[in-house]
Amino acid sequence: MKAKELLKTNYHQILLVFMAFLTMVLVSYFYVSNIVQRQMQIIGDASMDITQTAVSASLMETELLFANVVQTMENMLATGETNQELLVYLRETNTYFNAARSPLPDFMKVYAYVRGEWLDGSGWVPPPDFVPESRPWHIGAENNNGRIFFSEPYIDAETGEMCISFSQKLFDYHGKAHGILAVDLRLTRITNYVRDQRIAGNGYGVLIGDRMNFIVHRNPDLPGRIMSEAGGDYPRLAEMFSTENKISAVRFNDEDGTDSVIYFRPIFQGWHIGVIIPRVSYYSEVFTLAAVLGVLGLFLASILCYLLIRSLAAKVRSEEESLSKSTFLARMSHEMRTPMNAIIGMADIAQMSTDPGKMKYCLTRISDASNHLLGVINDVLDMSKIEAGKLELSETDFTVAGLLRQVETVIAFKIEEKQQRFTVEVDRDVPRALVADRQRLAQVITNLLSNANKFTPKGGDIALWIRRLPDDGNLCVLRFEVQDSGIGISQEQQPKLFQSFEQADGSISRKYGGTGLGLAISKRIVEMMGGKISIESEPGRGSTFIFTARVREGVAAPDAEHGENLFDPNAGQGRIFAGNRLLLAEDVEINREILITLLENTGVQIDIAENGREACDMFAAAQEKYDMIFMDIHMPEMDGYEATRCIRGMNLPRAGTIPIVAMTANVFREDIEKCRACGMDDHVGKPLEKGEVLAKMRIYMNAGNRVSG
Ligand code: ADP
Repeated sequence: MKAKELLKTNYHQILLVFMAFLTMVLVSYFYVSNIVQRQMQIIGDASMDITQTAVSASLMETELLFANVVQTMENMLATGETNQELLVYLRETNTYFNAARSPLPDFMKVYAYVRGEWLDGSGWVPPPDFVPESRPWHIGAENNNGRIFFSEPYIDAETGEMCISFSQKLFDYHGKAHGILAVDLRLTRITNYVRDQRIAGNGYGVLIGDRMNFIVHRNPDLPGRIMSEAGGDYPRLAEMFSTENKISAVRFNDEDGTDSVIYFRPIFQGWHIGVIIPRVSYYSEVFTLAAVLGVLGLFLASILCYLLIRSLAAKVRSEEESLSKSTFLARMSHEMRTPMNAIIGMADIAQMSTDPGKMKYCLTRISDASNHLLGVINDVLDMSKIEAGKLELSETDFTVAGLLRQVETVIAFKIEEKQQRFTVEVDRDVPRALVADRQRLAQVITNLLSNANKFTPKGGDIALWIRRLPDDGNLCVLRFEVQDSGIGISQEQQPKLFQSFEQADGSISRKYGGTGLGLAISKRIVEMMGGKISIESEPGRGSTFIFTARVREGVAAPDAEHGENLFDPNAGQGRIFAGNRLLLAEDVEINREILITLLENTGVQIDIAENGREACDMFAAAQEKYDMIFMDIHMPEMDGYEATRCIRGMNLPRAGTIPIVAMTANVFREDIEKCRACGMDDHVGKPLEKGEVLAKMRIYMNAGNRVSG
């Protein structure tokens, strides 16, 4: 559809490409076809010249021989030699020129009719009814009165070969006529030669006599007839012979109407040989060339158009993307400003108020808004990780019950707020414990549930159903279904939901809020877990989001449950770290205050360093006092990385073993790796979560580092 639109709007560019190629093809066609045509003409002329020379040589040599025999005979007549003596001479001549070594392979025989007597060099005895005076050669020579006469070609009665006769009247020195001498010449070699003429495949040879009569032609009706009686352009050709000597590559309509090209050459006494070539075969190479060029041009033009459209499409796409990103930015700014507004406004009200009830109300709202803001920021962070290909899963062992509890903690109060019915069903065959990325799995379920909550009106139904599908090898395939009775989503909007920054309807964000990232992130996470996410929904009849995940079955996991307890924010009750001492390196006062307040009731003693340098000095001065160090990264004077390297490099008993935990808002994998690379043991993310901080403290303070000191 997109491509069609692009074609429609950019047809002039595409047309231009095709026109350019068409012009290129035409120009090269004309150029090359001229070359080919000239080449054909040269080849045609050259081969005709060779034929002309060969054929006319044969006839002229015979003419020469004939003149020679005439002269000898006239000498003999002048010296009064008898007919008998003349016959001997004719026989010798005949034998000589018919011998194997004959210089005239076309020679047939020589004979004369002298003083009323038949003298035949070949020894042929004429039948009694043979009247020499009635033969064409005799009549012709008689009429030519001393000049040589060339007969019409005729078929020899004895051999069936095509021949012509040369004949001439014989005189003595006194001018007295004694008879006629004649030589018969085979035309076969010449006619074969002509018939075999071939230029450009389909051409054929033609032999024309001195009276413009056909001697050899492809059409068997034509030999014997004269040109002006034949069809096509033959009458015109006859006219041309009267003015032109050679005819080269002239366009010509053959007698059967074929568009042709002709070549003609005179060979002898007004005779012509020629070749007639149908133009189709003459130009076949040119046509092939045109076809090849055309196809090639079309192919190239198509490729160019394809590339053109692709680059246009890419341009349109990037424009669309930047548009969708800028609407996203506008939406983000709105999403962030709204809670910020609540935080600032509520803080103002709380400051001015003296009523403890009102102050508590304000603080609750501030806390809600902050959590919401954190959610938005986390979404953006996740999305940017996904776009940079940096989202990675980590595996932990956990129970399904623990996972559900984690999800419910987040979602329960929202559901209560809207008085919705929430049911959870876990099939019996779903393993009790799993090995997967618990946080990410919880994130997807929470996201689907909070969408269900958001888009379902008060009092509606929401259900979560976990099933087990057939295993895939040693992986357990789970199917999660989140069903609601909410507003639903139309068919056409459904496929868009999983794209970044897309919401079913722009107006929805105004009503319900949201960044349009949740489902895109969920899709990515589900895919990384080897699963698929899909939706079944109808507007007004609720939606069901279904996703699958490939996980490993965990061992019954008391340790994991223990792990969950680590994150329990209530776990810190009751001075559990009494007697422990930690060093906190943090330059921002509010952050110091937050940590101190978080750990207020745990009994831990906290020493403060305001930058890395101070932390190093304090550790160097009293290293044995500390159980662990919380190290901020970005600090003036000396940052957390350098301070850690400095401490690890000190020549003190605990320099290598004191647990150092980074406190940083940079939670990308590289940041964490960088922390470890400079010698830190672990990290906690900002904003600080009480449960997480306590968990780390349990791990590192109770690990007994102090004992070793
Ligand atoms: P948001 O943060 O905007 O909710 P999501 O990617 O989670 O982003 O959802 C994208 C859009 O999908 C929502 O804005 C909404 O239009 C639609 N949507 C998601 N879940 C539901 C649901 N359960 N019922 C109706 N519409 C939904």
